[in-house]
Amino acid sequence: MRKLVLVFVALALALLPGCSKGCGKKASARPSVVVSIYPIFDLVREVAGPDADVSLLLQPGKNEHTFDPTPKDIERAAAASLGVMVGLGLDPWMEKLMKDAAPKARLLQVGQRVPTINIKEDPVGDEEVDKALEAADAGHDDDHDHGDAAKGHDDHDHKVGAPDPHVWLDPQRARIMVNAIGEELSKADSAHALGYRQRAAALEGRLDALDKEIEGRTKALSRKGFVTFHGSFGYFADRYKLRILAVIEPFPGSSPSSEYVQRVLKVVKDKQVPALFSEPQLDPRPAKILADEAKVPLGVLDPVGGGPETDSYEKMIRYDMAQLEKYLK
Ligand SMILES: [Zn+2]
Repeated sequence: MRKLVLVFVALALALLPGCSKGCGKKASARPSVVVSIYPIFDLVREVAGPDADVSLLLQPGKNEHTFDPTPKDIERAAAASLGVMVGLGLDPWMEKLMKDAAPKARLLQVGQRVPTINIKEDPVGDEEVDKALEAADAGHDDDHDHGDAAKGHDDHDHKVGAPDPHVWLDPQRARIMVNAIGEELSKADSAHALGYRQRAAALEGRLDALDKEIEGRTKALSRKGFVTFHGSFGYFADRYKLRILAVIEPFPGSSPSSEYVQRVLKVVKDKQVPALFSEPQLDPRPAKILADEAKVPLGVLDPVGGGPETDSYEKMIRYDMAQLEKYLK
């Protein structure tokens, strides 16, 4: 009888809510990770697998350059032991949020782990694009070293822009980022380091395959030049030797001047650009007006994803590729 009572007491203690904090510590030790934007979130959740809770801050469909955290977002950031963002000026809102809500958490800025390209000074200045392309074509160098190219640019004395932050749209750079994500998760949660590293390696392999696939598909395009809505596809174009002939809205959210629009229109007509592309995160009206005026169709290029057809990084890249094939074939 006495034994039975003791068992009951032990059971009751185990079930007490006060105990759940201490006793359940092992179960709730899964680290929380917050990620700024969708494509990076998808890569992080793949690497995290069942070992960490990963949540997204900027909801799909929203412009990646701005963000107002809700109280719930602040709560999630505060509980995180790791934050993952792009950096390079794309998502400074994330850095601020982490500094305020979780100053002790680790913060990985994946954009700082990859070679960068500077934003072109004049988004309609196709002269510079042509020159760069000629140089690239002359070399026909498949092992084109982006790092040195970017450095070479900096070494020149002419005025150049800031680094383009849309680094994830090149699958090879995404692969480097995945490696960094695996290492960072391993540091934040060393007990599951093996799992993080294995899943990172598997994803790196898939991104390599994706890169080869896109390389083949872009080589088959008969048209290599296209016009984007905002300056998001620079790395994609650089990786696959395509050219961005013009950018409709160089500064997302601020309408371009009519003089600027006329210059874009001239490029569209002169180069017989077959289509324009809007982006799901931005107001499509300026692109629609331009497309109507130039009498070309309007496609969609999605740099962020998270929609029904773009709910993984790989699906997003394939969706964009299919859009380019539809209009540049
Ligand atoms: Zn952007």
